[in-house]
Amino acid sequence: MQQQIENNQTGNNIYEKRLIGLRAKLREINADAALIAKRENYIYLSGFTGTFANLIITQDSAFLITDFRYVEQAAEQARLFEIIRYGGKLEDTLNELLIRKNVNILGFEETHLSFAEYSKYKEKLSVKELVPLGGAVEDLRMVKDETEIEIIRRAVQIADNAFTHILGCIKPGLAEVEIAAEIEYSMKKQGAEGASFETIVASGLRSSMPHGVASEKKVELGDVITMDFGAVYKGYCSDITRTVFLGRPRKELEHIYNIVLEAQLKSLEGAHKGLKGRDIDHIARKIITDAGFGEEFGHSLGHGVGLEIHEEPRFSPGSKQVMENGMAVTVEPGIYIKGEGGVRIEDLIVINDQNPIVLTKSPKELIVL
Ligand code: ZN
Ligand code: ZN
Repeated sequence: MQQQIENNQTGNNIYEKRLIGLRAKLREINADAALIAKRENYIYLSGFTGTFANLIITQDSAFLITDFRYVEQAAEQARLFEIIRYGGKLEDTLNELLIRKNVNILGFEETHLSFAEYSKYKEKLSVKELVPLGGAVEDLRMVKDETEIEIIRRAVQIADNAFTHILGCIKPGLAEVEIAAEIEYSMKKQGAEGASFETIVASGLRSSMPHGVASEKKVELGDVITMDFGAVYKGYCSDITRTVFLGRPRKELEHIYNIVLEAQLKSLEGAHKGLKGRDIDHIARKIITDAGFGEEFGHSLGHGVGLEIHEEPRFSPGSKQVMENGMAVTVEPGIYIKGEGGVRIEDLIVINDQNPIVLTKSPKELIVL
């Protein structure tokens, strides 16, 4: 029982911190309240994991509006929120609360609310002004707390184990879709809620497509095989890519593999707190460009991972985002040559002063099956 109470207190502390963070952002943009409807954002702020909720958060109150299906679950999960059940029109329920709390300026999620919803709220809600939240919750979500890092660590471990498993399964004649299914089955057996995105298995010449989802093509001797996948665990995603060879690789592909590996290792080493996203992208891009393959590395070096598979911050040529401890980001350089094949290697790291924590443990030396 004691344990139970302590757990609840720790749980509440996490959400208290997050609400304090959001309230500070509200003061910065002079909004009286935030309306939160994006699922990842309400999960983050309240702990409620159902498929429908709207939050209204002011400086001294927090409401979670949901329908009858979820009232009980919401009361159980979102301990810091007053749960409001709505039946008729959502805007009527929102209005009651906005009037009750004297909200004049309401912040909304400008990248989530549809134009139709925005227009309706502008007409129907009894507030003076609707202002964009400017990614306030997404900003908070960039820096992961200890609890989140532990969950992501497990999500990565599940993917690592699936990789070990698949190495023992791959043989000539197996279709890419079978490999993908085996990876996903392994992840689910370990407790994953699902795959964090459509599993990529691209073999032979198909590997020159950076996002070649698994097809019915069968893998054959001499193929390079790129597998990019991840698990969802307790709502959080992982993301890993490994490129392996079925039989000895051709010289050109081995050459490319070594360049990508060097770019990957050097960017891991250089992912320091205080640098901008573009500085870290530049480490890999310079190595690959100097080797003559700049044009063949057509995507960013990495992206943030959390409740969403792609979130802030980015390791991209244009990113001015400054790295802070606790940011979880992928490092995934690649080289793709049409008519030849492609190589990508991807780990998930957490920024931590000078030496990032590399969550991904799967081997990266060239693997020949
Ligand atoms: Zn990936
Ligand atoms: Zn990725």
